[in-house]
Amino acid sequence: MTSDGGIKIPSRLPLLLSHEGVLLPGSTVRFSVDSPRNMHLVSQRLLRGTSLKSTIIGVIPNTRDPEHDTDDLPTLHKIGTAGIAVQVVGSNWPKPHYSLLITGLCRFRVSSLLKERPFVLAEVEQLDKLDQYTTPATEGATAEDGELGELSKKFYQAAVQLLGMLDMSVPVVAKFRRLLDSLPRETLPDVVASMIRTSNKEKLQVLDAVSLEERFKKALPMLTKQIEGLKLLQKTRKINPDNEKRVLSVRKGGVFPGRQFNLDGEDEEEDGDDTVALEKKVHGANMPDAALRVCLKELKRLKKMPQSMPEYALTRNYLDLMVELPWSKSTKDCLDIRAARTLLDNDHYAMDKLKRRVLEYLAVRQLKTSLKGPILCFVGPPGVGKTSVGRSIARTLGREFHRIALGGVCDQSDIRGHRRTYVGSMPGRIINGLKTVGVNNPVFLLDEVDKLGKSLQGDPAAALLEVLDPEQNHSFTDHYLNVAFDLSQVLFIATANTTVTIPPALLDRMEVLQVPGYTQEERVEIAHRHLIPNQLEQHGLTPQQLHIPQETTQDIISRYTREAGVRSLERKIGAICRAVAVKVAEGHRVTKIEDLIPESPAQQGEKAAPPEMPIVIDHIALKDILGPPLFEMEVSERLTLPGVALGLAWTPLGGEIMFVEASRMEGDGQLTLTGQLGDVMKESAHLAISWLRTNAKTYQLTNMVGSPDPLEGTDIHLHFPAGAVTKDGPSAGVTIVTCLASLFSGQLVRSDVAMTGEITLRGLVLPVGGIKDKVLAAHRAGVKRVILPKRNEKDLEELPANVHVDLDFVLAGNLDEVLNAAFDGGFPGTASALTHPQLTSKL
Ligand code: ADP
Repeated sequence: MTSDGGIKIPSRLPLLLSHEGVLLPGSTVRFSVDSPRNMHLVSQRLLRGTSLKSTIIGVIPNTRDPEHDTDDLPTLHKIGTAGIAVQVVGSNWPKPHYSLLITGLCRFRVSSLLKERPFVLAEVEQLDKLDQYTTPATEGATAEDGELGELSKKFYQAAVQLLGMLDMSVPVVAKFRRLLDSLPRETLPDVVASMIRTSNKEKLQVLDAVSLEERFKKALPMLTKQIEGLKLLQKTRKINPDNEKRVLSVRKGGVFPGRQFNLDGEDEEEDGDDTVALEKKVHGANMPDAALRVCLKELKRLKKMPQSMPEYALTRNYLDLMVELPWSKSTKDCLDIRAARTLLDNDHYAMDKLKRRVLEYLAVRQLKTSLKGPILCFVGPPGVGKTSVGRSIARTLGREFHRIALGGVCDQSDIRGHRRTYVGSMPGRIINGLKTVGVNNPVFLLDEVDKLGKSLQGDPAAALLEVLDPEQNHSFTDHYLNVAFDLSQVLFIATANTTVTIPPALLDRMEVLQVPGYTQEERVEIAHRHLIPNQLEQHGLTPQQLHIPQETTQDIISRYTREAGVRSLERKIGAICRAVAVKVAEGHRVTKIEDLIPESPAQQGEKAAPPEMPIVIDHIALKDILGPPLFEMEVSERLTLPGVALGLAWTPLGGEIMFVEASRMEGDGQLTLTGQLGDVMKESAHLAISWLRTNAKTYQLTNMVGSPDPLEGTDIHLHFPAGAVTKDGPSAGVTIVTCLASLFSGQLVRSDVAMTGEITLRGLVLPVGGIKDKVLAAHRAGVKRVILPKRNEKDLEELPANVHVDLDFVLAGNLDEVLNAAFDGGFPGTASALTHPQLTSKL
């Protein structure tokens, strides 16, 4: 309280720039907030603050295009309304935003801007007295004298006249009536302008009218316009006088479509039949007693509500969902293990281990007929067939299949639904999925459980745990439904790219099945057995129209794709099909195959009687359709200077080859590292340098001028090119050592060698993870020899036979052996170079 008796708002207010509505004192408006400044205001001010004062913000109308908010601050409107944020609701769908419910308190004028970021803060001057709203109507003193009194009286009478034209049985109209009598007259222009149908521009005029007299003058015409409009409506509609009032209250858009108070009323006759039908459906939905009780209660409420109330649609949607849910509808399982095996084999090439485990899982289920047990989680790079296997499982069981994408979900209401307290609330994805499939025992594929996020709105992983827990999920309660739904018949399968980021509690519930990437040969087979036939069918083509020879497929794989799975291979085949489909569709115009493949040498000889079909895709046609190759075998080209070595890295997307480059220059022993590196990688680099300095003499390593300390008067720069992926992990140790040994000795690393392994200060090579994916990546890149830690020998068993044949594996226990295998003819000074032949194993 201040000396003049009014409540003071803070003199510094954070400002919400409102693009969509004008807040007037005394009214409550919902604002949807998604521009950066406004989002900051909510997250840093409203959600952090604990005092009442921190919930007071200024709302400034911003008539500019909201797209420009990120640029410089637009010239702000000078007058705004201070308001109290009474509700903040955050959501991530369809994009991150907050929904704020703000009640306007009083006008203010912006005196000066204090800062513009992260949100706008301004020094403000309060314009309206606040006590007017808190004390009972004290008529007479201010508003009743002279012209002002006259105006206020006129205004009040007009408002009463308007009320008289509306249906008092509509609750909002009744509320308007109450407000009219209880509020002080001075507040009426603001309150009425926000309740009747006014444009934002008109509201802005009322907002800008700082003097009371002007405010009445501005608002009065709006009120009379409304009355005139209603009168006109009455005249034009020749209606039964009994119904008059109801119809009056606005079918077309509403006389009072104020967002906060909906003064619309509508005739309710027509929904009589509707609710009867709904009631029948409720009884026919076969839902458990608890749910039935809730439905009947809601139904009873619904019958009493006018259709135009927002609440009506809310309740109606709720009941529609309740009757649609498969409370007791299910499909019959038809599991025949032998048939399942055939089906899995027919659908998927290779991945034997995974298929075997899936069959075991299904067999156990058949014997036990209960679903309690771990959830299967397929972990592997994208495009290796995880989703596809999930789909096959559903097929073998004769169940419905539904995929729930969890990538980026960071709000637990995505899983568990929003409470039915505000407009726009909806059930979570589990309940939605059940509604989509229409049975209560589908296969749900929880896709990308490793990409669940966390946020203010609670941890979705916790909600998911409840869904997956067989002890709890028979009574899963979605916030929207607010009654339990039995999920115990749902078969859940999860997929992920990596287990590292799966929340541990969730991981604990799951049995992880690794699905590694494919070799070149497997990919060719998959393409010919599955991808090409599928794509042909999808594009309405037949093998008689399009033929892709094996060599072409190999070409696509090695020169147009670089991936662990087969997704972009599938896409490239799709592109070829499209190109051919156009030719086929053009039909008669293309009579000769040369039209498609102008200079194909293969066809030139047969020009006399060229077969029109099939159109054969050779490497020239391939180039025409897919453009120049995206990847060339670059390995040998890059290894032409000392100071470059080829390492193998593991990423959630599969194995990758990784070049390590080093250069040196005059300096004082500094080490520079570049290329998106993590801390462990930096440590590896320091370890490598220390070990090389220690052993410089043995290996005859020198600095640029031949001194025995390679770092003397020298700066070293290590770079890990390619890709914006952060590289971390200790497995680059051996590669860094090899790269630097090459730099310090001036010798070239063999161009067909790739390596992986952690190192110690004493020069030992320790085992690392992801061997299969790494070796496959090396194989893909055309590498001939792979150097691995000796203790990873057991991982080689998992590799396909042809990879064993093509690659030469060197199992190294120490760095001496690594260097010896990485350089042609061994590395000078290595023990093994002098004594025995290379320790290689051709497994
Ligand atoms: P993921 O879920 O692992 O990202 P998808 O299941 O979506 O991969 O697979 C991508 C495409 O590759 C699908 O069309 C799938 O049928 C096909 N595919 C993947 N692996 C195989 C395989 N072993 N045999 C046949 N098709 C496969």
